[in-house]
Amino acid sequence: MSMKMILDLDTGIDDTLAIMYALASTECELIGITATYGNVLMEQSVKNSLDILDFFGRSDVPVFLGEPHALATDGFEVLDISAFIHGVNGIGEQEIPASSRTADPRSAVDFIIEAAHSYGDQLVYVPTGPLTNLAHALRRDPSIAQKMGKVVLMGGALTTHGNVNAWTEANISQDPDAANEVFRSGVKATMVGLDVTLQTLLTIKETAEWDALGTPQAHFLAQMTNFYIKAYETTAPHLGGCGLHDPLAVAVAIDPTLVDTLALNMCVDVEGPTRGRTIGDPERINVDPKDMQVAVGVDTSRFLAELMSRTNALLKSLA
Ligand code: CA
Repeated sequence: MSMKMILDLDTGIDDTLAIMYALASTECELIGITATYGNVLMEQSVKNSLDILDFFGRSDVPVFLGEPHALATDGFEVLDISAFIHGVNGIGEQEIPASSRTADPRSAVDFIIEAAHSYGDQLVYVPTGPLTNLAHALRRDPSIAQKMGKVVLMGGALTTHGNVNAWTEANISQDPDAANEVFRSGVKATMVGLDVTLQTLLTIKETAEWDALGTPQAHFLAQMTNFYIKAYETTAPHLGGCGLHDPLAVAVAIDPTLVDTLALNMCVDVEGPTRGRTIGDPERINVDPKDMQVAVGVDTSRFLAELMSRTNALLKSLA
């Protein structure tokens, strides 16, 4: 039976690359995109996902309104650094036709719960922003932790520094409380964090390959990603490209053999100066089997080859 995938996105540039990877992959059916906040406001994430899906000929995929802010706050504002990296509109200031669709009438939280019950083991939930929507779903129906197949999340850092501060990664830092609830819920999860995503890089060599296909979609993808690469030249010049954070999570959801993992029961520090740190759960250190796999190694060349062959095939199918 084929995998049913939900992407939970704060639709910025690498989220868009995650959509591309999912649409290009015959191993999974993208059954919906739930919107979160982070790179952009939740409402902008809905708009970007709808516009992108329609532009790539997939107006059959529904998009759901998610929670607009963290569990412990009553609002959210986009950080200046997010606008610098993803553009104010989240897609590198590129213009694509506006979708005529609106969000599905069901909420993201309702859809996640419904999908967990309908699809069980077949369901793979791939969040690439804060974990607020899933935390709300687990509060409302804790049974989904055992029902759903797995969560493959982009977020956290175990063996390397964070990117917000020494111990905190950006997605987790947006809502450490939600992440802690998810990590300790018993749901089977794979953490695809900075440990591996900063090893997977895209450069202008690859975006030029897209651009050479000469279609509006190819041009959009290339120009949008070049904006991201340019931001990385300022924020992380030592890397020599842009981090493929979100598409790597999709790729690992489809093919777990792309990464080496450590089996651990994880938690997120929510108190004190290390708030937002992803680490082994001291209270469950002796609980077996472990419910999380933390990616600590990645086959970078195989992933990049998969990303390029899949995206090129998708772009050519639209030509
Ligand atoms: Ca994201």
